[in-house]
Formats: sequence, structure tokens, C-alpha cells
Amino acid sequence: MLSTLVAIALSLSTTPTRSVESLVDEAWQQVDKKAEIQHQDDLKSDVEVGAKYAVEVEKQSKFTTDTDMIKRVQRVGAEMADIANQTHSIATWGDTRFNTFNYTFKVIQKDEPNAFSLPGGYVYVQTGLLKFIESDDELAGVLAHEISHAKFRHIATLQREQSKMTMLSLPVIIAAIMTSGGANAGAAITGTSILSTAVGNGWSVKAEQAADYGGIQLMVKSKYNPTGMVTVMERLALVENSQPQYSSTLGIFRDHPPSKERADAMLQKLKQYNIPVERSKVSTSFRAIVKPDDKIAGAVVITFDGRNLLSFAGNNALTRADEAAVKLNTFIDSSPATFEVATGMDGVILGGTQKLLQFTPEDAVAQGKSVAELQRLTVLNIRGALYMVAIRIWETH
Ligand SMILES: [Zn+2]
Repeated sequence: MLSTLVAIALSLSTTPTRSVESLVDEAWQQVDKKAEIQHQDDLKSDVEVGAKYAVEVEKQSKFTTDTDMIKRVQRVGAEMADIANQTHSIATWGDTRFNTFNYTFKVIQKDEPNAFSLPGGYVYVQTGLLKFIESDDELAGVLAHEISHAKFRHIATLQREQSKMTMLSLPVIIAAIMTSGGANAGAAITGTSILSTAVGNGWSVKAEQAADYGGIQLMVKSKYNPTGMVTVMERLALVENSQPQYSSTLGIFRDHPPSKERADAMLQKLKQYNIPVERSKVSTSFRAIVKPDDKIAGAVVITFDGRNLLSFAGNNALTRADEAAVKLNTFIDSSPATFEVATGMDGVILGGTQKLLQFTPEDAVAQGKSVAELQRLTVLNIRGALYMVAIRIWETH
């Protein structure tokens, strides 16, 4: 680079009317121009490779006809793509230049909760993932992750790293990307050295970390709650552990599947951004929900993850339940210890030092129990809910 500059400067130095500064400027402009041309070529190459394999993917896939699902993915996808094309995110692994693409989003009819992307911004989501997610925030998180793989040009990077050692076969990489979980996954990958090399060199880990962080960077700029990225990772990690054959891993980087570690890394980033972790706002699995009590007429229950926590009766049952649900959600979102839930005076249930709710004699009569019994049962129920949350958040490995 430097010798080129000197050569340009020397060859032009015979022109007496030009200053050295203007010559150096011109030399740098030429270098910049060259780099820009190279950059455009690289992006074009990604789009060409992606388009080629998109044809293959689309030949082998059955697309959903559910227009609501398609519209949802395209709406959230377009929003996240716009942000990606306006944001020069930090890439901890991959191409660090500001890469923009014309992203497309399609929905494949397949049960595994999976998504993947091809070079050049071709993003695919499976119907199983859309059934799995519990909010647009979670969908945005998954799409932001997939967009980041394309944006950071992970396949091209992997290809370049790999080619330093062995000749690599792009079709093999693409076959690996397309391979979601299930029995075929192993068969497709067996006998190919590329994945073991990628894993051996830690590239799959680095690619996943980079896409997770890239996703967070897009999420904090979006209207979606970044916690959605964490909750979807936490629940996918549970699936990964309990049903590895139903793996939700994302294509070639499947050797670094959803895990507690990845969710924890995201939580750390949110902390750095000063973003509160609000699981109740992005996931129904982590939310206290108010419903009519189907056993007692006029009464209202609060449920958590499908189980009843408590029931209120009387004229203002609904108002009290709504207020209590807000307080319960804030309390549970703070990941308290189970012992922090306790009974207080006059039918009160405490969360730490805060009053979460208060039972009335009317509540007790409606359920044929004493106020003290209601308190005792409710404390146990809330502790049970906290225990369920703890399993999902902390004990996923
Ligand atoms: Zn990934």
C-alpha cells in the first residue's frame, strides 16, 4: 500500500504546479476508490452466491400459505432490515465494514423452531419458530441475529479462513446452513471436514457471539424490547437440552447451539446499555395474566405460565387483579429469591419489602377459606412460579 503511494507520488512529482499535499490527497482518494470498488464487489458476490443457493433452498422447501405468518415475518423483518442498513454495527467476528443488503424474508413450512440466512440477506424462518415465539419482540430478536450473520458476511469470512488451510467447498457450507436439526443433520455433515475445522478453530462460537451481539445492537435501536432476544434464547436453550433431536440450532453454526451462556452474554450486554430486563413484557411464559375465574362467578384469577396463583372476589376484583398483576410482573422480572415472598399483616402478600397485593374477607368467603389460608397458599404459588422461572433462566444446562 505504502509503496503504491510513493510510486504515485513520484510519478506525479514532476508536475510543478501541484502541491505535495494535493498529490497525497489524490493518492489516498485512489486507494479509497479501490477499496470501495472491492467492497461493492464483495457485496455483489454475496448476493450472487446467496441467490444461487436461495434457488436450491426454495426447490427443496415447502413454503407456508399462512398469509398472517408471512405478513408478520415480512413486517418485522423489513423494520429490522431498515435498521441494519442504517447501522454500522460492531462485528466481533466477520467483515467489519458497513455492509448493506436488500434483505428478503420467507416462511418455510417445517416444525423445528429454526431460522437461517444465506449470504446476501436471504432470511428464512420456519413455521415451528413462529409457533414457538411469544411476541414480535422475540421474532425481531431472531431476525436481528440472522440479519447479522449476513451483514457481517460470516459465510465469506468462514470461506476465507477455511481456504487458508484447505480447499473448501461452498456447496458443503450451504448444505450445512440448510440443515436444521433432526436425523438428516448428522448425515449431511458427516464426512465433511469443514464443520469440524470451523468448530476446532472456534469460528462457529465466534460467529454466534458476533451475530448475538449484532442482533442486540439492532434491537436497542428498534421499537422492540431487546429482552425478547434473551427470552427466546432461554427457551430455545431449554428445548435444546430436553430434546436435542428437535434442535433449534441455526444452520452451519449449529455446533454452538442456543445455551444459557449465550443468554447470559446477552444479559450482560443489556446491562451495559442500561436496558432493564423485562421478561414479562416479551414472553407469556414469564407473565402474570388476569383472567375470569371459571370456578367462582364474578371472581378473577391471576395465572402464571398456565397455573393459578390466586383469586380475587367482590366488585373491584378486576381492578385489584390488574394492579396486582403489574406488581407481580415487576417483582418476578427482578429475579428475586423465593424467600422474598412472604405474608404480611391484614391479608397482605409481600415481595421483598413491597406490598404486592392484599386479600379481603370477601376473597376468603368466595373460596371458603380464611384470609390466612389464602395468604399461605398464595405465597406457595408465587414461590412455585419463581422456581419455574429460575429453572428456565438459570438451570438450562
Ligand atoms: Zn446463528
